[in-house]
Amino acid sequence: MKVLVINCGSSSIKYQLLEMDNETALAKGLLERIGIPGSRLKHKKGADKYEINRDVANHKEGLNLIISTLIDEKMGVIRDTSEIDAVGHRVVHGGELFASSVRITDRVIKEIEANAFLAPLHNPPNIQGIKATMELLPGVPQVAVFDTAFHQSMDSKAYLYAIPYEYYEKYKIRRYGFHGTSHRYVAARTAVILKKPLEELKIITVHIGNGASIAAVKHGKSIDTSMGFTPLEGLIMGTRSGDIDPAIVPFLQEQEGLSPKEITEILNKKSGVLGLTRGQYSDMREIEDGAIAGDPICKLAHDIYEYRIAKYIGAYAAAMNGVDAISFTAGVGENSPYLRKNVVTKYLGYLGITLDEKENDCKACEKIISTHDSTVKVLIVPTNEELVIARDTKEIVEKNLNELKLW
Ligand code: ADP
Repeated sequence: MKVLVINCGSSSIKYQLLEMDNETALAKGLLERIGIPGSRLKHKKGADKYEINRDVANHKEGLNLIISTLIDEKMGVIRDTSEIDAVGHRVVHGGELFASSVRITDRVIKEIEANAFLAPLHNPPNIQGIKATMELLPGVPQVAVFDTAFHQSMDSKAYLYAIPYEYYEKYKIRRYGFHGTSHRYVAARTAVILKKPLEELKIITVHIGNGASIAAVKHGKSIDTSMGFTPLEGLIMGTRSGDIDPAIVPFLQEQEGLSPKEITEILNKKSGVLGLTRGQYSDMREIEDGAIAGDPICKLAHDIYEYRIAKYIGAYAAAMNGVDAISFTAGVGENSPYLRKNVVTKYLGYLGITLDEKENDCKACEKIISTHDSTVKVLIVPTNEELVIARDTKEIVEKNLNELKLW
């Protein structure tokens, strides 16, 4: 079975065509600058790389270009579209309704549209992608896989904010959490690597890329996570502030005469390590290089970044009344021995953790990096959200599960 995985952003589409018989990616790529002059498609077929520069006005045109590339004689990997058995879409916000992936029907589209007020930047392009795919690949089953779904297992004590309850009832203001597909995959892989049942483990999954979140996964279920009502809460990110005192928001609005849109932009796009380095760097590689070279601004930003991660690990060890494993993933988590070493050796010794520095000196490997006698295991687990989306899609289509069975 061949599954096309699609991830539509506001001006981009990421895609991957997977052969599910052996779970390999046949081709993958990224189309950027949709609706902006200078659109560019980067396509990979095995080790071969291609680039198409052609203006693309909207998501439908973009998906059309991607499909044409997949069936192209030179760049393609299939003869025609009849080889695409199913399509899996990453959808950012499933609200409280979707606690698992679901076959897309008209009713599901309406519900995703109804959740768009919770994710105004993300759900509308997701819906555009779904509708365009339906037109371009009529009759091909489609599945929605939600970033929020894995965290729907959280208890109300973890997801409610201590603000007047009526705002939860009126506007559904609560913690949802994101990166759920990644946390779910990494927790499951951690159990496989440790050769222990997931249902018996307490795992902290640390997803740190440009966006960053951390989750407490107890016995296979997410019981808490650092992103909240939006992806702004929690860890310090490339350009997002993470946790701050909420009183800073009206204070800054008054002092600087900022509109809600402007303050939101500052907290999402100009904060995080970018803000801490006075607007110089949002890429952790540059901050790490600077910190190692002795630049005090980079050192301070890195110190704050790692300190916040360590605080959340402590909090989630408490939330689960113990922890068996801590797994690092995503761009920084997978590729930065320096970050992992600092977090573990500076802050986590009290948990009985010792790092095997030789094992830790590794990029994008899947392995245990704590010593044999470490009471809590520390791992690197490269994430694979596309594979989870493709697996869910295959399962739902093969078992012919419909929306009613899942709800
Ligand atoms: P996104 O949240 O956009 O999916 P990724 O998970 O791809 O992000 O992570 C991208 C980030 O990973 C980059 O911004 C960079 O800061 C970080 N990164 C990649 N490689 C390294 C490395 N070797 N050391 C430190 N950070 C790295």
